Amino acid sequence: MQPFHLLIEREFDVYKEMMDMKIICKQSPDNLYAEEAKKLSKDKEIIVCAFCHNHIADPSKQIAIHQSFRHIFANPHGYVFEIGCFSDVINCCPASTLSNEFPWFIGYSWQIGICTRCSTHLGWYFSSESNSFWGLILEKLVFP
Ligand SMILES: [Zn+2]
Repeated sequence: MQPFHLLIEREFDVYKEMMDMKIICKQSPDNLYAEEAKKLSKDKEIIVCAFCHNHIADPSKQIAIHQSFRHIFANPHGYVFEIGCFSDVINCCPASTLSNEFPWFIGYSWQIGICTRCSTHLGWYFSSESNSFWGLILEKLVFP
């Protein structure tokens, strides 16, 4: 277990990296769950980005990691992320170097994942020597 102050410094480095990359995190509730996104998602049976309505994943790609699709994690700043696990995504891409800091899933490295259209931080790509999957922040997605 790392001393807590070291964890905070490392977390800050991750945020600095995100800022340098100008990743947009639009948190306004007005942008979430727009009626248009809901309709698109339902009509096409797809999971879309809550901000730009880009097709992000198909419901059939939802998987269980450690017996659960849904996981809740908190970082040392107290930010809580509720993520869902996907075996594959469509318009979400890795946008940072591989990191082993704060391994939410033991044995997995991670990269920040962003929407290919609006660059919103949608979650993380987790990879190990034998497996890989995506963990996407549920409130940034609209499900059918
Ligand atoms: Zn988007």
